[in-house]
Amino acid sequence: MARISLGNVCKSFKGLKVIKSVSLTVEDGEFCVFVGPSGCGKSTLLRMIAGLEDVTSGQILIDDQDVTKLEPFDRQLSMVFQSYALYPHLTVRQNIAFALETAKQPKEVIECKVAEAARTLKLEDYLDRRPSALSGGQRQRVAIGRAIVREPRAFLFDEPLSNLDAALRGETRVEIASLHKSLAATMIYVTHDQVEAMTLADRIVVLNKGEIMQVGSPRELYEHPGNVFVAQFLGSPRMNLIDAASDGEAGVMLPGNQRLDIGQRSPENIRTVGVRPEQISITDDGDAAIKGTIKLCEYHGSVLSLIVDAGPMGDISVLAPSAGALVEGARVSLDLPADALHFFDE
Ligand code: ADP
Repeated sequence: MARISLGNVCKSFKGLKVIKSVSLTVEDGEFCVFVGPSGCGKSTLLRMIAGLEDVTSGQILIDDQDVTKLEPFDRQLSMVFQSYALYPHLTVRQNIAFALETAKQPKEVIECKVAEAARTLKLEDYLDRRPSALSGGQRQRVAIGRAIVREPRAFLFDEPLSNLDAALRGETRVEIASLHKSLAATMIYVTHDQVEAMTLADRIVVLNKGEIMQVGSPRELYEHPGNVFVAQFLGSPRMNLIDAASDGEAGVMLPGNQRLDIGQRSPENIRTVGVRPEQISITDDGDAAIKGTIKLCEYHGSVLSLIVDAGPMGDISVLAPSAGALVEGARVSLDLPADALHFFDE
């Protein structure tokens, strides 16, 4: 298995920079997820690691070997694609065995590796079927099986669950997580889906417009987002952001000239206060800094998802216990606990 390092990697297409000097080390055995909005450069970065795309400048190392100029095959990485990329005329067994056959491995070795991959991926009953006779989830498992038998130095996944429906996506996600545990392999996984990123990753790399916005564990990024982009990208509903200015003491001034106590001396350069919807509570404190009218109340079973029109502060999203008797049109006061606030200078 392997550690993968990127040093100042840049990529331009026809003079347009789509990856702007990315440096990063993915540790041996780590599950690292590249996440970001569509077009931010996730796939391009992964394809450069795989060798499917040249780097414009910079360096890619696997362990201490410089692979920047190596052909994809020589990097000994396995990639799993969104489209599965299976051979339709071959059976599951033949698809999984294909790379081993090409490498002219002995028949017994091939049989043994295919059987083991089929067992790991619960494909034993499907080995003689063609891909067309499989569900999307099973096809993706075959694609993963094909990657496993090559015993690569690392696995690269490019949006592998995007073609699956929601239930299968959840199931296959759990399978990929358990595969990572059992193989203890280095895995780099690209997705635009923050739930996949949060649930699978040891470490998440948040990308935007070809640049790294922040790198950290799911918990670090969720609880300590370093900027407004990360704050809003992770979490659903999104973190509320409210314009704010320091009052020079332990408070911030919000739109509408409302003062919010933040329990500490406010940073001078503060421009925005953030608070997650689940951290806000509805209170009957008439002096609360934020008051508003419920303009949308959605019942989600375990919680109510509210949008509160808070006048000059705009719409505030709140998750409240569903037992509460809250209805659209009701006037409410919102409590923003000081220890749940995030401060940004942008
Ligand atoms: P993501 O995977 O985050 O959706 P991509 O890596 O696919 O983003 O693309 C990043 C940017 O590079 C996009 O603006 C995309 O249009 C551009 N791009 C990707 N591949 C090519 C290509 N072969 N030729 C020109 N532009 C490309």
